[in-house]
Amino acid sequence: MMGLMRDALIIGAGPAGSVAAILLARSGWQVRMVEQHRFPRDKVCGECLSNTGFQILSRLNLVDSFRSLRPIELRRTILYATNGESIEMPLPRSMWGISRVAFDQFLLDEARRSGAMVLQPVRCEKLIPGQSPRVCLRNLETNEWTEHTAPIVLLADGKGSLLPDPPQKTSDFGIKTHFEKVSGARDAIEMFGVHDHYGGVAPIEQNRANAAFSIPAALIAAHRGNIDAAFNQIVDRNDALKRRLKGARRIGPWLAAPLPRFAVSRAWPEGIIPLGNSAAALEPVGGEGMGLAMRSAELAVEAIAGGSVHRLATHFDKLWRARSFSCRAIAKLLSSSTWSAFTMDIARTCPFAIPVAMSVMGK
Ligand SMILES: Cc1cc2nc3c(=O)[nH]c(=O)nc-3n(C[C@H](O)[C@H](O)[C@H](O)COP(=O)(O)OP(=O)(O)OC[C@H]3O[C@@H](n4cnc5c(N)ncnc54)[C@H](O)[C@@H]3O)c2cc1C
Repeated sequence: MMGLMRDALIIGAGPAGSVAAILLARSGWQVRMVEQHRFPRDKVCGECLSNTGFQILSRLNLVDSFRSLRPIELRRTILYATNGESIEMPLPRSMWGISRVAFDQFLLDEARRSGAMVLQPVRCEKLIPGQSPRVCLRNLETNEWTEHTAPIVLLADGKGSLLPDPPQKTSDFGIKTHFEKVSGARDAIEMFGVHDHYGGVAPIEQNRANAAFSIPAALIAAHRGNIDAAFNQIVDRNDALKRRLKGARRIGPWLAAPLPRFAVSRAWPEGIIPLGNSAAALEPVGGEGMGLAMRSAELAVEAIAGGSVHRLATHFDKLWRARSFSCRAIAKLLSSSTWSAFTMDIARTCPFAIPVAMSVMGK
């Protein structure tokens, strides 16, 4: 019944929303997508697209146009313990360094080209579940309110905040900026443990590097909201990070956002399908968030076409559950002053440790 109406409304134009829009519009659906920001818009993210996401670009026949954005191919990752000790691991499958400004614009352009109607800057203020959910929208330019219905509403707002029972916030924040003139490898994601938090530096297009960290809200508060000062303290605490950023220049503003971390819920409101970080959110250490968001969109569109939406939560659970445990464990180990160097010693001496760690993170 739902599938026959072929009319969908998507909230949020991140990777999850745009991939859903592309797939539905390409198969003849009437798609309306609402996005609160004007694009290009930036976003807190480590900006490394995993192979999961790259495979979806390939299935969408978008690899050539993605390559024209000049993403940086990343073939290895280097982990630095809190004491600066390091271990290098080849990535079984490449990841890609690409700014969110470029990548999200690229996917949104493709959604439009595929026939989706994009309403922007328009915010969904309220979502009322039901057989045909009601969606209250506010145009942020004119402040005009409108109410819409659609047989299928895909919620891809990146946080599930419009769900009747929104996920709890954590006490951690994600922060991100861009640097130029970062010394070191241009084909590696470097991850740094820094006494109870961690983050990464990775090259992206146009000779820039992304720096994204997960840090406790208390650290930001201790610096009265001055993220530059909080970051300087982080850099001071890891010698390898200090060396890497010596001579580098920050060329972007700091972005900060509360870090979501929650498992797939099995109780979705009637008529509403959560996608991407509205469905579940991982510790970002594995750089899988965009790939999983895109994959959840692909699974949702397959389920809609096949009339099996009722099984989607089970598929999502499989997608996120194993990674959620392993990413949390790796984040804890990397950021522990007691365990990070010790874990690296084990990884160095045990030949299976690295392949197993890569595999549980879905690499
Ligand atoms: C510190 C950090 C580092 C990370 N590093 C990586 C990494 O290296 N690689 C990776 O793959 N992932 C990484 N992630 C995770 C990744 O950023 C997310 O998993 C991904 O963005 C989720 O995509 P999404 O489409 O679900 O949501 P989002 O990308 O958050 O998109 C949601 C969209 O919805 C819009 N929106 C929200 N509310 C409304 C509303 N009410 N009405 C209309 N529009 C709305 C927003 O403006 C936004 O454009 C990282 C995350 C953090 C915090």
